[in-house]
Amino acid sequence: MSDLATGGGFSLQPPEEITQMRDWVHEFAAEVIRPAAAEWDEREETPWPVIEQAAKIGLYSLDFFATQWMDASGLGTVVAFEELFWGDAGIGLSIVGSGLAAVAVASNGTNEQIGEWLPQMFGSPGDVKLGAFCSSEPDAGSDVGAIRTRAVYDEAADEWVLNGTKTWVTNGGIADVHVVVASVEPSLGSRGQASFIVPPGTRGLSQGQKFRKHGIRASHTAEVVLDDVRVPGRCLVGGKERLDARLARIAEGRSGGEQAAMKTFERSRPSVAAMAVGIGRAAVEYAADYSRQRVQFGRPIGQNQGVAFMLADMQASVDAARLLTWRAAWMARNGLPFDHAEGSISKLVAGETAVRVTEQAIQILGGNGYTREYPVERWHRDAKIFTIFEGTSEIQRMIIGRAVTGLDVR
Ligand SMILES: Cc1cc2nc3c(=O)[nH]c(=O)nc-3n(C[C@H](O)[C@H](O)[C@H](O)COP(=O)(O)OP(=O)(O)OC[C@H]3O[C@@H](n4cnc5c(N)ncnc54)[C@H](O)[C@@H]3O)c2cc1C
Repeated sequence: MSDLATGGGFSLQPPEEITQMRDWVHEFAAEVIRPAAAEWDEREETPWPVIEQAAKIGLYSLDFFATQWMDASGLGTVVAFEELFWGDAGIGLSIVGSGLAAVAVASNGTNEQIGEWLPQMFGSPGDVKLGAFCSSEPDAGSDVGAIRTRAVYDEAADEWVLNGTKTWVTNGGIADVHVVVASVEPSLGSRGQASFIVPPGTRGLSQGQKFRKHGIRASHTAEVVLDDVRVPGRCLVGGKERLDARLARIAEGRSGGEQAAMKTFERSRPSVAAMAVGIGRAAVEYAADYSRQRVQFGRPIGQNQGVAFMLADMQASVDAARLLTWRAAWMARNGLPFDHAEGSISKLVAGETAVRVTEQAIQILGGNGYTREYPVERWHRDAKIFTIFEGTSEIQRMIIGRAVTGLDVR
């Protein structure tokens, strides 16, 4: 290939294995997910048959997620997630929801923990399993440092005892493996936290309230109650030695207070941005198509600048969101520091773009857009979650504001 084609080493052309994977996921999204979307949104239930179908073709599998996560270009996960969420966000989240728990263990856990627990978060065709990541609590949403769930070590039994209530947990209570963020040393706030794996069937873990939601209704969201939950010592993510060393460093006034939950969120932000890009792209495509078909005043509505300019802005902002998402994913893969909070920038822009363009799509469809006969009202409801979970838009702005100013913005 000439230097001109590769831009002298810089390229926005994804590698061939990524474009092939994208087409394969797209086919599943178009043929299986999208036709099922309205039904599971109405049922407000986990779409087990769709997850099962995804497992049968290898899409819902640890192998697929790990391959994309480790892809050398950094684009594997973001490209796959954009396609899945183009199909439907509720079903998409049901398929990728185990990923957050998997990433929590994969990024902070030991090799033994990764080998033991990740396969149990996905299962196999005919026997699919789920994972859940439990950080948020009723009084600790944006303020992760306020987590009250306690983990106390019982040295005689080499067990950790967990007590507390988690909320808003995707797959909470129906997952096979729960990863729970708890406070080991409450006086240290978020620096005194650690994550714990709760194995399948552990006594004391139960589902509390299941939430009825505005959007992503096919994705199960519930409280998780932990009542004297005992887990073996080996279930502390990263191991006790590492935790003790970290607490000792903090006690001596040295650094080392990385927050378990924050680390997980940082790494997953471009992936979450990609989900929002998928919804936004779906809305632009649908509205553009509608604008060519719908005739008023004797011409397609898309011939009016008022409509075409709206579509132009929608397309431009979705493309911009994707570029920011790819940049953050590429930087993360290459170990580049997020000096300007590039992960947060991608999530902020993609989330707000998805909300805006789905609202504009409703506008372009007129009365039809406001009904459940057309998918754009659902996409608008679904898009809204992207300004709330994995850090609200305000929290992203706070993180970006701190990076830009160097000040302790609050
Ligand atoms: C459908 C769904 C799925 C979820 N899945 C999971 C999951 O799997 N695991 C998990 O652990 N959590 C999950 N969450 C929780 C989610 O991450 C939290 O809802 C989110 O972090 C916000 O917390 P909160 O709801 O308590 O809002 P709050 O923190 O109470 O915020 C309320 C408002 O105040 C603003 N605000 C708060 N602090 C500041 C500040 N310092 N400056 C400016 N504005 C501020 C916020 O931006 C927001 O607008 C999920 C939530 C939902 C709705």
